Amino acid sequence: MSVAAPSRAAIAPVAGQPRARVSPELALGLIAAGALAVTYLWWNDTFAVHGLGDWLTNAGRLTGLWAGYAVVVLLALMARVPALDRGVGADRLARWHAMGGRYTVGLSVAHTLLIIWGYAVTAHTNVLHQTASLITGYPDVLMATVGLGLLVAVGVSSARAARRRLRYETWHFIHLYTYLAIALVFSHQFATGADFISNAPARWLWSALYLAVAALLLWYRLLTPLYNAIKFPMRVAGITRENADSVSVYVTGPSIGRLRAESGQFFRWRFLNRELWWAANPYSLSAAPRPDLLRITVKMTGAHSRALLDLAPGTRVLAEGPYGGLTQARRRRRKVLLIAGGVGITPLRALFESLPGRPGDITLLYRARTPEDLLLRAEIEAIAQRRGGRVHYLMGPSRPDGQGHLSVGQLSQLVPDLTSQDVYLCGPEAMMAATRAALIEAGVPRRHIHHESFSF
Ligand SMILES: Cc1cc2nc3c(=O)[nH]c(=O)nc-3n(C[C@H](O)[C@H](O)[C@H](O)COP(=O)(O)OP(=O)(O)OC[C@H]3O[C@@H](n4cnc5c(N)ncnc54)[C@H](O)[C@@H]3O)c2cc1C
Repeated sequence: MSVAAPSRAAIAPVAGQPRARVSPELALGLIAAGALAVTYLWWNDTFAVHGLGDWLTNAGRLTGLWAGYAVVVLLALMARVPALDRGVGADRLARWHAMGGRYTVGLSVAHTLLIIWGYAVTAHTNVLHQTASLITGYPDVLMATVGLGLLVAVGVSSARAARRRLRYETWHFIHLYTYLAIALVFSHQFATGADFISNAPARWLWSALYLAVAALLLWYRLLTPLYNAIKFPMRVAGITRENADSVSVYVTGPSIGRLRAESGQFFRWRFLNRELWWAANPYSLSAAPRPDLLRITVKMTGAHSRALLDLAPGTRVLAEGPYGGLTQARRRRRKVLLIAGGVGITPLRALFESLPGRPGDITLLYRARTPEDLLLRAEIEAIAQRRGGRVHYLMGPSRPDGQGHLSVGQLSQLVPDLTSQDVYLCGPEAMMAATRAALIEAGVPRRHIHHESFSF
């Protein structure tokens, strides 16, 4: 079914206003400061270390403290705090989360092994006996052991090879067990942790840290979306088939403007019909947001995206967001180069429409396999004509290694003043990696390359 899209003409885009954002450097600085404070907690309680057993136990205490800290950082990164999301970018936060997850599992396992070994050496017993006595003698340690098992299972399911084999929903469901793991592990820190047993201020601060992150999760992942769903009702206005495998969905609502979405951002879309109500998938805005109209354009790759074709006008929509930092706010230079690969055109098409600039300031390089795969081409050309923007189409098959995409020579030839421009990049992983490397080789400073990945 294809429904005529509502007219987008004659409606002014929402004005972009500066909004709070935490830069990646500040976020990393805060994380590092927290890690130092946690290390100080151990240092402050440790007067001397004597013998192998003591060294091992202290290494176990330290790795345990770091693991307990890392796990709350992981949750905070995924709490969808707007200032963090806008400043760092949703895809970078997801990458940090994935990397931090590996550290957390590694530190937790190291903590367990070192503590058992250290206690065994000190008590002149073997590690099996020591393990049994810790598990049977301390109920909190037993719970923590179950929690560790869950954490390791979540870690294994997130390893690249396993992730590729799992459906997104299955992986996501397994991932939710992290919350149970943290709840199970929490109490053993106070019941048996040498740094907490006799240090009430440390216990209070540690609890405050966990509670603050729990409050952030509750607020931004549950209450804010619920509030927005009630306060800013939205419905499907219409759909348009763009080409053989892509569809645009128009969503309307009287108070969309109050969400203050920006070009380059995305929402998690939940369409409330029988097939789709259970899933919330991320799709970028493919046109500059209007006070009462949003649009996404979706490549039909799987069950969710294909089902969008059958959306009936009037279907209620819960849109969680806006998220993402690929916006005008990242811009440092007057001239901007937008580089899109495939369906990665969506956020860049919106930016092409709305980034402030004079004729000649904005250039779009759009890479696709064939001319038929070029999405929203007529709109792009109309925008280019209206704004004096430049467009270059580059055709060719995509290669898994990302090679054969955009070479340094090609980039410099198409955009001679490349190094003095901001570059916004969105497309398949391999294409983005290869293009980013080519841009850096061509002399574009890393801080002027802004990118968003479609894979979390
Ligand atoms: C920030 C962001 C913006 C995106 N913008 C667009 C866009 O504008 N247009 C477009 O066509 N695609 C976009 N995508 C990709 C799109 O979300 C997936 O292709 C889509 O969710 C696939 O769902 P499916 O059920 O059709 O396919 P499936 O075959 O079920 O999933 C294919 C892959 O999509 C990813 N995926 C599936 N469900 C989710 C989910 N709920 N959350 C996160 N990832 C998921 C997984 O990596 C999965 O392996 C974007 C992705 C991200 C992360």
